[in-house]
Amino acid sequence: TYVVTDACIRCKYMDCVEVCPVDCFYEGENMLVINPSECIDCGVCEPECPAEAILPDTDSGLEKWIELNNEFANQW
Ligand code: SF4
Repeated sequence: TYVVTDACIRCKYMDCVEVCPVDCFYEGENMLVINPSECIDCGVCEPECPAEAILPDTDSGLEKWIELNNEFANQW
């Protein structure tokens, strides 16, 4: 699963949303989030993000963002 991090806050680009094959991006409070139960881990979105805000959840120190993506993606 990939996770959206703080570099996305108030980002105006939606390039990631357009390339995601399973449409698993959702609007968070002030940033986009990825629904971890829908993401198929394809990695297509990562290089598309101009803010480099999308990271694999296996990177260290992302606990807060993993939780936040999960929370906002499942509020709908
Ligand atoms: Fe969508 Fe693939 Fe990015 Fe997951 S890794 S959010 S499936 S584009």
